[in-house]
This record gives sequence, C-alpha cells and structure tokens, in this order.
Amino acid sequence: AESMMIQSDKLSIAGQLAAGIAHEIRNPMTSIKGFIQLLRSGFGSKEQYYEIISSEIERIELILGELLILAKPQGIKFERRNIRVLLSQVITLLNTQAILNNVEIQTDFRDQDMDVECDENQMKQVFINFIKNAVEAMPGGGMITISTRSLEGELLIDITDEGSGMPEDILSRLGEPFYTTKEKGTGLGFMISKKMIEEHRGTVEVKSKPEQGTTVRVMLPAVYNAAAI
Ligand code: ADP
Ligand code: MG
Repeated sequence: AESMMIQSDKLSIAGQLAAGIAHEIRNPMTSIKGFIQLLRSGFGSKEQYYEIISSEIERIELILGELLILAKPQGIKFERRNIRVLLSQVITLLNTQAILNNVEIQTDFRDQDMDVECDENQMKQVFINFIKNAVEAMPGGGMITISTRSLEGELLIDITDEGSGMPEDILSRLGEPFYTTKEKGTGLGFMISKKMIEEHRGTVEVKSKPEQGTTVRVMLPAVYNAAAI
C-alpha cells in the first residue's frame, strides 16, 4: 500500500508540474515570438527587443535548469555524511553572495555526534535553496542563523532569517510549483527541496511572521556516530 501511495503522489506532482511547465514556458515563448515579429517589421528599438528576447530565453533556461535537478534521480547515492561539514561547505559556497547582500551567516552546531544518510548533492541543493530564499527575503541585509541539534533520533536543522516573513496566504501556497512572489523567481526551489527531504524520509516545517522573519526546519533521521566525540 505504501508504494502505491508514493506512486500516486508522484503522478500528481508530475501532473501539476506538466501544467505549470506548459504555462511557464509558453509565456516567454509568446513574448519571444512577438518581439521577433516586431524586429521583422523594422519598427521601434532593435536593441531593446534583443534585450527582452534574451532575458526571456534566460528565464526559460532558469526554469529548465531547476527542473533538470528534479529529473535526475538515477545519480542518487545514499552515504553517511556529517551534516555540519556539509552545511559549512554550502555556507562557503554562498558566502560571497551573502556578503554582497549585506547578509551575515552565523552557525550554532550542536550534537556533533549525529550523522545523516543522504545523497550529498541533493542535500547541498536543498540547503542552497533554503539559504538563498533567506538571503532574498532580506533585501536590506541581516542575519541568517543555521543551527543543528538532535532530538529523539532525529536531526533538526533550522535556517532562520530576519527577513520579510510570509503572511498566511503566501505561506499556504509555499511549495506549490511555480508559485513565486519574486520578479526573477521560479517558484520551484522550495517544492524541489521539500520533495528531496521527503525522499530522505525527512520533513520540512516553516514558521513565519510578516516583517519578523522565517524559520525553515528540516528534520532528518539521524545516525549516531561515536567516533565524532
Ligand atoms: P522562488 O525563490 O523562486 O520564488 P521558492 O519555491 O524558493 O521560489 O519560494 C516560493 C516563494 O515563497 C517565494 O517567492 C517567497 O515569496 C516565499 N518564500 C520562500 N522562502 C522565504 C523566506 N525565507 N522568507 C520569505 N518568503 C519566502
Ligand atoms: Mg527560492
């Protein structure tokens, strides 16, 4: 019964995605077509049309890039990893972008003796997505706190920002494919991350208050690592 449920769950996500993809790609396509016609007509500013066409193509590339991550499960390899090491690598990767946005990332890693069984690339992708959202929620800069601790055989990882937060209507649509409030957003990052965590038998919880910030909590089954003490 369990595998049946997983199967039908996947189908509905695929169905939702297919409808979304068609829509999300048709819009920039229509616009590209229109501007090519304008170019042909010789009317108006050529340079501006080229600008728009290339930014619409970039948008399609961005969407396809995120979808390809989702469509690549054959490369998944579950290995035992220390989540603090993994998080530190992700933070190093994002630090330049954070600094450019006046964002500081601080860590509070507790319970050093817990590891997780995970696909390293997927797990990194998940935290990249969540931390990017935290950075993007603080256009004026601020602090992101990433903390870890263990609780009853689970590892809790909190990503807390002091950003815009989310009102109830946005919060309830979070994770819906292609739902975004950003001009350059895809609305895929959260959904993909949540799905990846669930494939690791984990869960994602979000607490958010408008103007007060957001905490994304990832919970994963933990493995005790005596060697780490
Ligand atoms: P994207 O980042 O491309 O918009 P996501 O799926 O990552 O897509 O997020 C969907 C939406 O959820 C965002 O557009 C934003 O409105 C909201 N959101 C996600 N994370 C946060 C956060 N940390 N703070 C405030 N809003 C957030
Ligand atoms: Mg995002």
